[in-house]
Amino acid sequence: MPREYTLHTSNPERRSAIDYRAELNDQQYEAVTSAPGQALVIAGAGSGKTRTLTYRVAWLLDNGILPENILLLTFTNKAAREMLERVQGLVPVETQQLWGGTFHSIGNRILRHHAEFVGFRKGYSIMDREDQKSLMDTVIASSGIDTSSFHFPKSTVLCEIFSLLTNTLGGLHEVIADRFEHFIRVEDQIEEVWRLYELKKRETNSMDFDDLLALTVALLEENPDVRERFQRQFQFVLVDEFQDTNSLQCKMIDMLVGEDGNLMVVGDDAQSIYSWRGADVQNILQFPEKHHRTHVHKIEVNYRSVPEVLHLANAAIANNSGQIRKALQPARPVGGMLPALVPLDNPGAQAAFVAQRILELRDEGVDFREMAVLYRAHFHSLEIQMELTQRGIPYQITSGLRFFEQAHVKDVAAFMKLIVNRHDEVSFMRIVRMIPGVGNASAGRLWTDWRKSGMLTDEDVPRATLAAALHGLKVPKKATSVWEQFAYTLEELVTEEGKPVPPRSMIQSVTEGVYLDYMKSKFENYEQREQDLEQLADFADNFREPLEFLGQLALLSGVDTDNKPADDGDKDAVTLTTIHQAKGLEWHAVFAVWLADGMFPHSRVIEEGAFGALEEERRLFYVTITRAKDELYMTYPLIWHQARDGNIMQKPSRFVAELPKELFELWKIKAW
Ligand code: ATP
Ligand code: MG
Repeated sequence: MPREYTLHTSNPERRSAIDYRAELNDQQYEAVTSAPGQALVIAGAGSGKTRTLTYRVAWLLDNGILPENILLLTFTNKAAREMLERVQGLVPVETQQLWGGTFHSIGNRILRHHAEFVGFRKGYSIMDREDQKSLMDTVIASSGIDTSSFHFPKSTVLCEIFSLLTNTLGGLHEVIADRFEHFIRVEDQIEEVWRLYELKKRETNSMDFDDLLALTVALLEENPDVRERFQRQFQFVLVDEFQDTNSLQCKMIDMLVGEDGNLMVVGDDAQSIYSWRGADVQNILQFPEKHHRTHVHKIEVNYRSVPEVLHLANAAIANNSGQIRKALQPARPVGGMLPALVPLDNPGAQAAFVAQRILELRDEGVDFREMAVLYRAHFHSLEIQMELTQRGIPYQITSGLRFFEQAHVKDVAAFMKLIVNRHDEVSFMRIVRMIPGVGNASAGRLWTDWRKSGMLTDEDVPRATLAAALHGLKVPKKATSVWEQFAYTLEELVTEEGKPVPPRSMIQSVTEGVYLDYMKSKFENYEQREQDLEQLADFADNFREPLEFLGQLALLSGVDTDNKPADDGDKDAVTLTTIHQAKGLEWHAVFAVWLADGMFPHSRVIEEGAFGALEEERRLFYVTITRAKDELYMTYPLIWHQARDGNIMQKPSRFVAELPKELFELWKIKAW
C-alpha cells in the first residue's frame, strides 16, 4: 500500500473569511471539516444539508484543494450554479474550474471527449423525449413487427420500459414482469426493438438522456485508463439529494470515485420521491454498509421553518411506517402563524384566494420571489395561471411544456443539430418535413439520398461541398423553390472551410432565411414565437460553440434539469411548480393547492392500493410542507366541475385528514 501524501497550495491570502464555527452547528461543522474519506449526512428537511455541502466545498478550497479536483453533483444545474455562486462569494478562488451539475450534464461533459470509446462520434446529438419517441417510431416501423395484430406497446411506453431498464440496471424480463406485465407475451419483439433502437442511435449518432449516464458508466467500466484519469482528477466528490439516486447513478458515482476515494453524500430518506423513475432509497440507507469506513452525520435541527410549520411536517411523516424516525427540532422561535387549511367552493375560487393572498403578502413587504404555488400535477396550475395573468402578478412556471421543448425552438435547433452532426436523422427529417409538399415518404427518400451523398463523415466539409450535396437532393417538384431557400440557409451556417458559425448567427440565419416565413404560415401566435427565438439568440450569446449550446439546450429541456436560462432566477416572480421540481427549495410562503383526495394522493395510487406507493405520496406531502419557511396555505376546491357527470364533491386529502386538528387552522372563506 503506497503512502498517501497530499500537496497543498497554501496561500493565506486566498483563504476565505468564513467563521466556520459560528456559521455552522456542531454536526454541520463536524461534517464540513471532516477528514477525507466517506461521509453520509442523513438528516431531515431544512436541516442544512445543502448548506453543509456548500461549506464543505469552501472548506476544501480553503485548504488548498484545486477547484478542478472537486465534483459536485446536484439535482438541478441551477442548484449547482447557486451553490457555486455562494462559494464564490465566500472564497476568493475562481470556481469556474469546478465540476458541478446534474448527473446528466456531468456525463455529457465526460462523453464529449470520449464518444468514440462507446461507439458514437464527437458531435453526437442529444435527443429529448420527443426526438427519442420519433426515432423509436422509425425503429418500430422498420422492424417488420406487425404492431396491429396484437397488443404492442406504443413508442412512449417502450421509451419508458427501456429507460427503467437502464436506470435500474435490471433485466428486460424483470422490468416487464414487474411493471408492464400485460406485455409479457410480446417480450421477444420488445427485445428486438430494443436491439434495433440501440443500433439506430449509433447510426444516427444520437444519444437519449439515459445514454448520458449509461454510456459514461460503460466508458469508465471498460477503459481503465480513462477511469483512472477521472478518479485522479475528482479527488473530492459531493452529492446532494442522494436519497433519489438510482442504481445507474450510484454506479456512476462508484466509477468516478473509486474504492478509496473521498465521497460525501447528503440526503433524507423521508424525501425520496422518485422511485417511479427507478430511484432506490436503499442506496442511502445502505451507504454505511457499502462503504465500511463511512462517518455518519445526523442533524436534528431544522433552520428553515417556524415551529408551527415544522410540527405539522413531523406529524405528517409520522404516519409513514417505513421511515427512519426523526423528529426535527425547530431552531426558529415560535411566533409564526398556524398553517391554514382553506376549503374553497371551486377551482376558480381557489385561484382567486391564492392570488388575493399573494397580493396581500406583497403589500406586507414579502417579495414575489419568496412565494410559491405547489401542486401534484401540472394541470392543477391552469386556473392559477389564468388568475395571476389577469391580475398582473408575475410568475415563473417550472412544469409543463418548457420553453425549450416548444416546436419552434426545436425546429430551429434541428438546423443547428444537422450542421454539427450530419448523421442526425431525426433532425434531417424534421427539417425536410417543414417543406410544403414533402410528406413522410419523400422525406424518407431524401434521407436515403442524403446518406448516399457522401455527407455522412465526421470531418468538416467545405461550404461548397455541402452546398452541392444540399442542392443536389431531389425534392418533389412543387417543393423545389422552398427547398432552395432551405439549402441556402443551411449553407450559411458554416464558414467557407466548413466550420459551424457561432450559435447566435445560426439562429438568426435560420430565422431570417426560412423560419420566419414558415412560422407565419404555420402558427397563429407567430409574433410571440418570434420573440422566443430572439430570446433564444440572446441565450446563445453565452456560448461560442454550437455543440456546447446544443448540449445545454438538450439538458435544459431534460427531465432532471431546471428549465430556465441563468438570469431568470433574478426576476421577482411567484414560482409555480410541481412538488417534484420543488425539491431542495424554500419560500417564505407556500400555497399547496388541490389537496383533495384523488388529486393528492393521486387516484391511481388509491385505486391500486399499493402500500409503498401511498407512502411515497405521503413523502411528497412532507416535501410540500417543508418547503415553507413562515406561512403555509393548504387549499382544495370542494366542487370540481366535470362536464358530463355534473358536480363532483371533493374531500380533503387523506394526508390532511389524518393530521391533528390543533396543528392547523381552518379558514372559512366567504364571498361578499
Ligand atoms: P432540504 O432537505 O429541503 O434539501 P436542507 O437540509 O438541504 O433542506 P438547507 O437548504 O441547506 O437544508 O437549509 C435550510 C435553511 O436553513 C437555509 O435557508 C439555510 O441557510 C438555513 N440554515 C441551515 N443551517 C443553518 C445554520 N447552522 N445557521 C443558520 N441557518 C442555517
Ligand atoms: Mg437541500
